[in-house]
Amino acid sequence: RLRPLVAGNWKMHGLREALPEIAKTCAAAAGGGAGEAELVICPPATLIMAAAAICEGSPVAIGGQDCHSAPSGPFTGDISAEMLKDAGASYVILGHSERRSGHNEGDESVREKACAAFRAGLTAIVCVGETKAEREAGEALPTVGAQLTGSIPNSSASEGLVIAYEPVWAIGTGLTPTPHDIAEMHRFIRARINDHLPGQGDKIRILYGGSVKPDNAAELMAVDDVDGFLVGGGSLTFKDFMAIAGVY
Ligand code: 13P
Repeated sequence: RLRPLVAGNWKMHGLREALPEIAKTCAAAAGGGAGEAELVICPPATLIMAAAAICEGSPVAIGGQDCHSAPSGPFTGDISAEMLKDAGASYVILGHSERRSGHNEGDESVREKACAAFRAGLTAIVCVGETKAEREAGEALPTVGAQLTGSIPNSSASEGLVIAYEPVWAIGTGLTPTPHDIAEMHRFIRARINDHLPGQGDKIRILYGGSVKPDNAAELMAVDDVDGFLVGGGSLTFKDFMAIAGVY
């Protein structure tokens, strides 16, 4: 079995006053509070340096929430993978549905960003997921399949890549797919990765994301092929995040 990964995506939440939540998470993780799971917190870019300093020497890693594909250049407002690495990050979330819809990011752009992450030595957490309309039309599997094929570089190595399945309709809604539907999708994703990156499907962690909370984490972690979580709202407080990670 792969080592589970529980990643917190703070999205656009968190001022400096939230940093003690990270310090408390480090202390709890060092005390064994996350069981066998690896923990990552992806705070807003403004907090990455401070968060990384807090986590140094602890079992908690820090990640960015997006990056540009170029190492540097005239791209006002953007942050490169090298800059995230320099600030102390070791992961980066790419292709989150809020980036795909709010910033018009397509699969090709996500793939270029993943290549940038590998170039900088970051592990890429590539997000995929169908909308409610796509699921209702019976198109969930082909939609996610196309996103995977388009978003994952052929050069990916299993150590540098994590997939997060986040159905768009489950994000921030309190809704989750049934365990049966999650298992079906995760099995499909693993098979698709194996087609795309022969032999790597069994080595790449596939996270579930979308309304993961302390009260459903145990049920979700028990689903076949779920190798951890990508947590939004439930990652903002140390208490909830550790309650979720603690199921491992
Ligand atoms: P919620 O956990 O708030 O539903 O968000 C999920 C998500 O988008 C994580 O990336």
